[in-house]
Amino acid sequence: MPDAIRSGFTRCPSFRPARRVSVLAALACGGGLAVWLATAEPSATAGVVSQGVAGARWFKGNLHTHTLNSDGDSTPDEVVRWYREHGYDFLVLTDHNFLTGVDGLNATQGAPGKFLVVRGEEVTGSVDTKPIHVNGLDVRRLVDPPVATTVVGMVQGMVDGIRAADGIPSINHPNFGWAISADELAAVQRTKLFEVYNGHPQVNNLGGGDVPGLEETWDRLLTGGKLIYGIAVDDAHHFKRPWDPTASSPGHGWVYVQAPALEPRALVNAVEQGRFYSSTGVVLDSVEATARELRVAVKPTSFSKYRIRFIGRGGRVLREVAAPDARYAFTGDEGYVRAKVVESNGAVAWTQPIGVGPQAPK
Ligand SMILES: [Zn+2]
Ligand SMILES: [Zn+2]
Repeated sequence: MPDAIRSGFTRCPSFRPARRVSVLAALACGGGLAVWLATAEPSATAGVVSQGVAGARWFKGNLHTHTLNSDGDSTPDEVVRWYREHGYDFLVLTDHNFLTGVDGLNATQGAPGKFLVVRGEEVTGSVDTKPIHVNGLDVRRLVDPPVATTVVGMVQGMVDGIRAADGIPSINHPNFGWAISADELAAVQRTKLFEVYNGHPQVNNLGGGDVPGLEETWDRLLTGGKLIYGIAVDDAHHFKRPWDPTASSPGHGWVYVQAPALEPRALVNAVEQGRFYSSTGVVLDSVEATARELRVAVKPTSFSKYRIRFIGRGGRVLREVAAPDARYAFTGDEGYVRAKVVESNGAVAWTQPIGVGPQAPK
C-alpha cells in the first residue's frame, strides 16, 4: 500500500477551511476520497472557489429514465416535461440499448443554467437469466452489450464499452433478478458508481432471504477497500399511471450534484468524483467534511423529525443523533465515514463516504 494512502488521515490536517463556504472540495485525502465542504442548498450559487470547483452550485437530477424509445410509456418530450415541471435541474435519458437524442429536447425545453437533458444509455444484457444493466452517462455514441458468460465479465464489458464511448458507467439495481452479488460488484474495475436506491418496484433494494440489501452491500464494498459511491434514481418508465403502485413512476429517488455548471461533463464528472448526495425526499442544508469531522445539517420540514447516523467500516453505526443537525469527529481509524439521514415518514438521504485513516477505500 502506498504511503500516501496508508497515512491518508494524518496527512490531511493541512486542510483547514477558514470558514463555512458553499463549495465542495474533492481533496486528495484518505486515498483520494472526496472530502466535502458544502452548503447543500439546491441550486444555490456558491460564493467561494476551492479545489477547482469554481462557482459550484447544487443541481437536482435524475440519472436513470426511460421513454417510448425503449420500454417507457411516454415520448421523450413528455418525460422531459415531467421532470422540468417537478423542480429538477437536469435529467439523463437512459433507454435500453438506445441513444435517445437530446439536442431537440434541449432546444425546446432546456434553458441555460436552469434545465438540461443529458444523453445516456442503459446498456442491457443478461447472463443466463440474470439481467445485467449498466448505465452510460453522457456517452458519446451507442454502446452495444458485450458477449460474456459470467456476471463479472458482462458487467466489466459494459463498463469498458461505456468508458470507450467516453461515458461514465454506473451499475444498476444489483438486486433486480438477484443478478449481481456483492462479491461480483467488488470484482468489477474502473467504475465508481452503483445504485444504492432504485425507484422501480421490483428491484429489491432492501435485499431478502440470504441476499443483503444494497446499503449493506455498499458497506461490504467500502470495507473491502473498494471506493464506490451510491446513487439514488427513479428508473422511471411509467408517466401515465400515477395511481398504480406496480408502475415504475417518477419522483422516488434523485441526486443533488455540486458542479461548476449545468453542463453534461461538469455534472457527470462531479458525480463520478462523489460530489453529490442521494435522496428519496430529504433535502440537506449543508454537508461539511474537514480533516477532523463530518457535519450534516438537514433542511427540515415543519412536520418531520430526523435521525442522522454516521456509519463506518462493516456498516457499524459510529454515532446516531436524534436531531436534524449533527457532527461526527473522526478518530482516525474508521476507514470511512458516511452519513445517513432518516426522516420520520421514511425519506432518506445518503452522503458519500469520506476516507479516514490507513484503511480508507480507494
Ligand atoms: Zn435496468
Ligand atoms: Zn432502467
